[in-house]
This record gives sequence, structure tokens and C-alpha cells, in this order.
Amino acid sequence: MIAPAPAPDLSIDAIDRRLAAACDSGALQPIRTEQTLISDHGLPFVVKWIARDALAGHRHKPARSPHHNPFLPPEETLTFGALGDTHLVLLNKYPVMPRHLLVVTRVFEAQTAAITEADFAALGTIVAAHGGLGFYNAGERAGASQDHKHLQWIPDLPPLARQLAARAPEDDANFRFRHAFAVLPAGLWSGNATGQALARCYHALCRQAGFDPQAAELPPYNLLVTRAWMWLIPRRAERWQHMSINALGFAGSLFVKSREQLPALTEAGPLALLEAVGEPV
Ligand code: AMP
Repeated sequence: MIAPAPAPDLSIDAIDRRLAAACDSGALQPIRTEQTLISDHGLPFVVKWIARDALAGHRHKPARSPHHNPFLPPEETLTFGALGDTHLVLLNKYPVMPRHLLVVTRVFEAQTAAITEADFAALGTIVAAHGGLGFYNAGERAGASQDHKHLQWIPDLPPLARQLAARAPEDDANFRFRHAFAVLPAGLWSGNATGQALARCYHALCRQAGFDPQAAELPPYNLLVTRAWMWLIPRRAERWQHMSINALGFAGSLFVKSREQLPALTEAGPLALLEAVGEPV
């Protein structure tokens, strides 16, 4: 019998060593950004844009292409290894956040398919070890740029997600979009049943949002997972004006292409953007 491959070292040191090697080889193409903080009705957001001096040399990340799947297989220099039998974990090639990891299925699954227990088990390994934010953009309208199933993780909670740890969004009248939220028990992160418990919670949130989690294809939504909670937000649009909004927007991190787009965003306010791309309540 062939022994299963050992789980890859995903310590912060190991992540930083791979980041350095991938940077040196040119495989990693970090996007240098500048940022500002905005508060909207007492809720904190960070807005980032590509730094002006980085714009000239900036190679835009490739748009989705039906002819190229960057995750089948992912680039070796970016890849840590297998998480269980079904997933690989790798560095995001074009990060705007530090230590941004992707968890991709080893064989093709669609990003619009339901998140499975195996997906949650793989992502759960990382959240259990480090905390941070796991997130999912279910389809193009939810901000996904790739069709191959990929869950994402960043170690630092964006400001709104950090604040939500202390205050459930259903208590907040400022969230004028449909959503389903659940507090996760602390005991969920130890033992072998993390994937199963996360999947159960996700199914309950799907049903609350009016989705059938057994369907072959789900409507667009964003999912956010921290050690403390899971939050599902159905989506009606990918963009507000020219800005694509994904799960990170609901965590309090927005990305505009250039500083010139900032005044329109500030004037409307981040909450109005989220309302515009979410489903009306
Ligand atoms: P999303 O845009 O939310 O669907 O997430 C997909 C992520 O994959 C983006 O953040 C891209 O930066 C990243 N990406 C695109 N191509 C590659 C690649 N070849 N290797 C690793 N990450 C990639």
C-alpha cells in the first residue's frame, strides 16, 4: 500500500520561504498597492489600489480564458503540496495581500458547484492552524476570475471581518443586503470532523439563503469563514460601476484599479456598494 503524502508544512515560516523563492524565480508577481481607511456608519473598510509607480511595470493578471486553466496543474514553484487526497495548496500568483493561499481541487470541479465536505476539510486545516479568513467567490457574478474550484485564505482579517467577531451582522441595520450568518463553536476546529461540521453549517446557511446545497450549480454568492463564524451573502451583480467586488469586500477590503476611482467610492460609501451587488432585503 502506498502511504499518503505527508501534509505540507504550512507554518508562517514555510509560507514565507516559498514566497521568497517564488519571488526570486519570477513565478510570483505581487501587485504593489497603496491604501486608505474609510469608515461608513462606524464600520471600517480598507481600500487598496495599484501603486502609481507600480502601474507601468504591472502585468495585469490574465483574464479568464476558456483555453487555460492555471490550476490544472498549478505552477510547481507556487505549490506547497497536497491537502488530503483531493486538494492542492498554493500561493496566489498575483497577491495584493500578504501570504494569500489558494486551495484548489486536484481534478476539475466548477466554481459554481456546492462546496463539499472535502473542500471544507482542506480549508479547515489552514483556518484551524492559523485563524485568518477563508473565503469563496461562487462564480463570475460573485467576483471569481477562474472557473476551476478554488477556496482562498489570508492570515489577517480585513477590518470589517475583525469587527464582526464582536458583533453579528444580523444585529446591524447597516447591512441592507440578504445574508445568512452562523457562529461557529470553538470545539469545531479540533479533531477529524471539522470538514463535516463546516459543511453542515454551510448547508444550513444555503437553505436560509434559499439555495439547494445539493443542486449541481448554485446561484452566485460569497462565503466567508473565520474560526468564530461563517457568513454567506447571495449576489446579484459582480460590479459597482467599474469595480469588481468579491468576498473580501464583505470582509471590509475593497480594491480599485487606480486612485482616481477613490472619490466616487468615498462619496457613495462602501456599504452602498455592498448593497448594490448583494440581493435586496
Ligand atoms: P478569484 O479571482 O477570486 O477567482 O481568485 C483567483 C485567484 O487566482 C486570483 O486572486 C489570481 O490572482 C489567482 N491566480 C490567477 N492565475 C494564477 C496562477 N497561475 N497561479 C496561482 N494563482 C493564480
